[in-house]
Amino acid sequence: MQDTAFPSYRGRLEYVCLGCGCRKSGDSLYYTCPECGGVFLLENVDFATLKKTPGETWRAIFDDRAKTGNVALRGIFRYYELLAPIVDAEDIVFLGEGQTPIIEASRSLQDAIGAHFAYKNDGQNPSASFKDRGMACAFSFLKWLCRQKQWDEVLTVCASTGDTSAAAALYAAYVGAPMKSVVLLPKGKVTPQQLSQPLGSGALVLELPGVFDDCMKVVEILAEHYRVALLNSKNSWRILGQESYAMEVAQWYNWDLADQCLFVPIGNAGNVTAIMNGFLKLSDLGIVTHLPRIFGVQSEHADPVWRYYAVPKEKRHWAPVTVQPSVAQAAMIGNPVSFPRVKYLAERYCALAGENAFQVVQVTEQQIMDSMLLANRHGHIACTQGGECLAGLINARTLGLVADHEHAVLDATAHSLKFADFQQMYFTDTFPEAYGVVPKEELKNKPELLLDPAEREGRDISSYAAMAAEAVVARLGLSKRS
Ligand SMILES: *Cc1c(COP(=O)(O)O)cnc(C)c1O
Ligand SMILES: [Zn+2]
Repeated sequence: MQDTAFPSYRGRLEYVCLGCGCRKSGDSLYYTCPECGGVFLLENVDFATLKKTPGETWRAIFDDRAKTGNVALRGIFRYYELLAPIVDAEDIVFLGEGQTPIIEASRSLQDAIGAHFAYKNDGQNPSASFKDRGMACAFSFLKWLCRQKQWDEVLTVCASTGDTSAAAALYAAYVGAPMKSVVLLPKGKVTPQQLSQPLGSGALVLELPGVFDDCMKVVEILAEHYRVALLNSKNSWRILGQESYAMEVAQWYNWDLADQCLFVPIGNAGNVTAIMNGFLKLSDLGIVTHLPRIFGVQSEHADPVWRYYAVPKEKRHWAPVTVQPSVAQAAMIGNPVSFPRVKYLAERYCALAGENAFQVVQVTEQQIMDSMLLANRHGHIACTQGGECLAGLINARTLGLVADHEHAVLDATAHSLKFADFQQMYFTDTFPEAYGVVPKEELKNKPELLLDPAEREGRDISSYAAMAAEAVVARLGLSKRS
């Protein structure tokens, strides 16, 4: 390992409003545009300086940093100049986020699906979802800002479908004073595993009856009238951190993205925004010459973005939807706050990479569950949203949108363990009807009890073990070694 020095380059970041076009300095805390309420993207107005370095040199710099022992550059900030090049080394919060592996799908799974693909396991992040990428960036910026402004208390607040609050609480707990974390959750709409995370990190957890979209509205009111740092995906610093996903995919494939298709679940649409923006930067700097095609995936129970893009250009019309229960619960959002970002970036993306460079596919709840279980039976660790991506690939293949020679990278956005309850409902046939999921026998699994508990009583270990071994032998039909 070599000790790569922290970069000396500093950029000049500005918030750019996608509603009215106004600009605000990046050295202050904005959530939404104070003029029009629109969402921001952060832009480095000094980006042109970075263009003076040839793409080849950038590739060498990032490849070099892959070997560094400098923890400030080991996670998402390997791509420091492209993300938030205003924070200093001492501000960077590194909890092991980013640099997640891309695992080629098992041979038999690829054969079963009839497509070439891999999973990028973003569930291998510290709080077990990709949200850590954005939080690492947002908290590094907040630390930097607290130093500049000498703030002695910052209350971080977020509404969440589960994973945002897990990540926010984790990073706040690590950073400690002056950060304090509050999370707002729709009661009963996050999994027990997801609820355990902010509780374990010591965050103040506030529950409200309703769905995520209700909690989001509450956050909007707080944002408008009170001094809090909001960590929802309108927070542009989170988007910046999440861009690292694009850079990692490019670097994993040695900066050659020809014939790659990425599948990304869309909820609040922050992730797909970040991924498109990340690739656009790589292309702008000549770091990559091909842009991969990007497929957003939505469940038919929460599909406003799919609905928007499903009609010809001139007929497109944005309308939020009322969500139905979805196993892709982290993406169960009817009014994604980042939609204006998607619209803006998809236009730029398609202008550069072609009409079909950004598309959205729709999947059923049944397909999501079946795909997740199938993937995990082949050695993957996909969550329901990861299952949604595989379902998206299957449908895209059926629709003829992905050719035989193309390769797909599916975003397994969280670890399968976070969504174990949906697996359990499938295995025990206890899905509420509203999900529309009917378990398939061949995908079910359950533990088999070999002996009655009463058989254990009154036996010493050796006689019990002999009896239990016999039961195992009988179940497996083993024959004796000769
Ligand atoms: C947040 C989340 C999503 C949805 O991402 P958006 O950025 O809201 O579109 C998908 N999967 C998981 C596991 C998530 O936590
Ligand atoms: Zn504005």
